[in-house]
Amino acid sequence: MSQTPAQAGTVYLVGAGPGDADLLTLRAAQLLLEADVLVYDALVSAAVLDRVTPTAERIYAGKERGNHAIAQEDINHLLVRLAKEGKRVVRLKGGDPYTFGRGGEEVETLAASGVPFEVVPGVTAAAGVAAYTGIPLTHRKHAQACVFVTGHLQDGTMNLDWPGLARRRQTVVIYMGLHGLPTVCAKLIEHGLPADWPAAIVQQGTTRNQRTVTGTLASLPKLADEAQLKAPTLIIVGETVTLQSKLSWFEHQAWLGN
Ligand code: SAH
Repeated sequence: MSQTPAQAGTVYLVGAGPGDADLLTLRAAQLLLEADVLVYDALVSAAVLDRVTPTAERIYAGKERGNHAIAQEDINHLLVRLAKEGKRVVRLKGGDPYTFGRGGEEVETLAASGVPFEVVPGVTAAAGVAAYTGIPLTHRKHAQACVFVTGHLQDGTMNLDWPGLARRRQTVVIYMGLHGLPTVCAKLIEHGLPADWPAAIVQQGTTRNQRTVTGTLASLPKLADEAQLKAPTLIIVGETVTLQSKLSWFEHQAWLGN
């Protein structure tokens, strides 16, 4: 483990992982104990926040769907200001900071402002959900490739490379896709995947509230709607979804209250 203590005047962009605090990296856990200021997003779980030193000032930067407590540009400048005040700043983001986390934008501002920074990777939702739900992202029999995309709707549509996504022998993971789920499923069928192609949606992966709904491209939108899932949710499309019934382990434990 790196023993380098957190430095004054530095911003640490830290991945908080998908929820279970035991999935923090050793480096992340150390920095959470050494922070002067914590700037965190809505996705960071309560369990992870419990690992932050009680002496750190906490600033909530928001980012639930449609509710950005602080605009992205203001977050960027806030980080610069706090670092220039000589603070040890931990910028904590759900999952991995460089996977759909706008971490790149924040670090661009730090670099341009001459603020020293370090980036600590985290377990991205796809990896956490795959492990805890029992849906491998690749598998020699089923999928030789895996692609992560954002299903965030812009002006009610989704601008994705549908022919590239509607391929067999690959797993497609869709972040931010709950509201766009019917569109995703319809587009993948339209571009050539069978209506009975396996698909799953997982709520709050790696937490006690994890729930997995499996179905097909044709059936999943209705099943997800009926299940009234709560954010955050991740969609996984591909043949490895069929392994879930055999490989699931965590949800049984969660039900037992362990
Ligand atoms: N940087 C994050 C992703 C941020 S985008 C990461 O690497 O995981 C936010 C999206 O991530 C959510 O809309 C959801 O699709 C997904 N997500 C994050 N945590 C999740 C979790 N515990 N369970 C399911 N999906 C999750």
